[in-house]
Amino acid sequence: MTTGFFWDERCFWHGGGNYAGMLPVGGLVQPLDGGLPENPETKRRLKNLIEVTGLAQALVLRGAPPASQTDLLRVHPASYLDEFKALSDAGGGELGRRTPFGPGGYELAAQSAGLAKAALHAVLQGEMTNAYSLSRPPGHHCLPDFPNGFCLLNNIGIAIEAARAAGLAKRFAVLDWDVHHGNGTEAVFYDRSDVLTVSLHQDRNYPMDTGAFQDRGNGAGAGFNLNIPLPPGTGHTGYLAAMNRLAIPAIRSFAPDVLIIACGFDAAANDPLGRMLATADTFTQMTRQVMDLADDVCAGRLVMVHEGGYSETYVPFCGHSVLQEMSGSQISAPDPFAEVFPLRQPDARFDAFLDGILSDMAAAL
Ligand code: ZN
Repeated sequence: MTTGFFWDERCFWHGGGNYAGMLPVGGLVQPLDGGLPENPETKRRLKNLIEVTGLAQALVLRGAPPASQTDLLRVHPASYLDEFKALSDAGGGELGRRTPFGPGGYELAAQSAGLAKAALHAVLQGEMTNAYSLSRPPGHHCLPDFPNGFCLLNNIGIAIEAARAAGLAKRFAVLDWDVHHGNGTEAVFYDRSDVLTVSLHQDRNYPMDTGAFQDRGNGAGAGFNLNIPLPPGTGHTGYLAAMNRLAIPAIRSFAPDVLIIACGFDAAANDPLGRMLATADTFTQMTRQVMDLADDVCAGRLVMVHEGGYSETYVPFCGHSVLQEMSGSQISAPDPFAEVFPLRQPDARFDAFLDGILSDMAAAL
């Protein structure tokens, strides 16, 4: 078994400008060290942690060229790309909602998409069993012509369309377990029957007006989008139940050629932008679930593309857990919160409440 890890130092150079968390600095809002929650630290520290433990040596570390203009045009209109490139060349700015970028932001975003593209290619070509792309900036919120939620290009959409153009696969399933709705990926493929998009997310977190269970796709794509909105406070057993009861059966019946995970870590118990209670072990178990599923339906072909996750202390450990499971390594990074977060899980009353929500969704499918 070979597990690829695609990364590029320049992905850590993307910058968001003068922010204090989600707030632009000004008036009484003072500058904050690190600026936007989407800053390099969470991702860089994941890379650092796998080097410190030695897990990096059990992986195949690779770089990749940036996605080409042809790659980007399969998902994004030329009008958007031209505007993005011009503003990037002019020193940066903002074209959507909460997606500030600095000089060279266009090239850095293309680099991020290029890593996802290369990871998917490597797995589909049989070079690797599975692969992880440490993409940054993230991609799952980006619509074809509207960047939002820190996402400037739709990395997974670009990777899928490049793989299809190369004749490497025909049917793709995307499972998004970032705590926020994968509205961009949903939009790219909403009227398509050859790409199944499934999103597990905190109900009405971000965006607040998308991610409803009723949104099942359009036209030929009807039935090929599945949103699984979960109530705030969903924890370890709730996530595994939502996977078992809804996400996994949907993907199993779709029978994709490859399974792609939009892998955010912001469902973790101390994430500043989520209100969920997942732990590093939750991510280990969900990784096990999707590996077993991929073994059953697509010869183990599994690609994870990094999305959100804003705890600088916890994302590295959650990511390490995923990579350890993907690679089957014995090298672990023990969860420093292992004595705390399992005690903060929802009680039986919440589990019963969630069970009712999941049952209603399952009955409506
Ligand atoms: Zn997120």
